[in-house]
Amino acid sequence: MRIKVLGSAAGGGFPQWNCSCRNCRLLREGSPHFQPRTQTQIAFSPDPDSSVWFLVGASPDLRAQINATPELAPRSEGTSPIGGVFLYSADVDSVMGLLHLREFQTFFVFTTSGVQRVLKKENRIFGVLDRADPPVQWQTLSSRGRLGCHLSESPGESPAFIANTIPLGGSYPDYVSPELVNACVPDDASIGFLLEQAGKQVFIAPSLSPHSTEWTKPAASADIVLIDSAFWSDDELIHTGRSKKTAREIGHLPLDGPGGLLEQFPANAKGRKILIHINNTNPILDQQSAEHRAVLDAGFEIAYDGMEITL
Ligand SMILES: [Zn+2]
Repeated sequence: MRIKVLGSAAGGGFPQWNCSCRNCRLLREGSPHFQPRTQTQIAFSPDPDSSVWFLVGASPDLRAQINATPELAPRSEGTSPIGGVFLYSADVDSVMGLLHLREFQTFFVFTTSGVQRVLKKENRIFGVLDRADPPVQWQTLSSRGRLGCHLSESPGESPAFIANTIPLGGSYPDYVSPELVNACVPDDASIGFLLEQAGKQVFIAPSLSPHSTEWTKPAASADIVLIDSAFWSDDELIHTGRSKKTAREIGHLPLDGPGGLLEQFPANAKGRKILIHINNTNPILDQQSAEHRAVLDAGFEIAYDGMEITL
């Protein structure tokens, strides 16, 4: 399986259009110690000749990210190699890109029933996806499920890969009405994907809440882990003047401090540990910072736009 990181920043990207934090300012000034980043987007291809690709999330930068990736260009007969999208939440940053895919093209959308209700019931703009003929096909995932995925309709063929889902304890986005939140299953709000192929596993968790530790099991077993590292410290948004809320209050487990990701990450994890979904305020983005050095010393890699990984 080939995996490509098309974008590695958290919401807003790096630099963020309205942010003048130290990181955004130094990047704009051309400091060589920072790399620009688009909003988190992952693509993977499960077949040996990379003719079919799936997206994990649909970022606000998706159109530019597809156009910057030759593997995702339409084939000569005019069909896209993108077969489907796995959505991990209904957050704006993980669904807005669906609107870039509205050009009369059918594909599969795999997500929980809760996320589907949010997108279809209160956000009729996503109805543009129904204009394709046949329309986009919504496939329901359980938040604790195991789905064998086939690339062809040949009977008896074994699945090309298996998508396991793990609830990550996140909440539905603020824009969802309280009535709809009450009507949806809490575990459906935010999920991670443990993809399996030929005995190997990649665990993708671009949004990690502080309210669950269920992620630690797949994080320990997977050969590759791509995991949310939005913030270094719990009070990062407060001391950079970006918000009055802590990382935990907005639903993200920070890297540092008691109970943080670095402390909770299983010590016996056997695979590559890759940090993704990095907020523009996070000091690990400064290649000269002590925090950047600390995550590398702890055995983590820092994802970047264009990063290629083979499972
Ligand atoms: Zn900033």
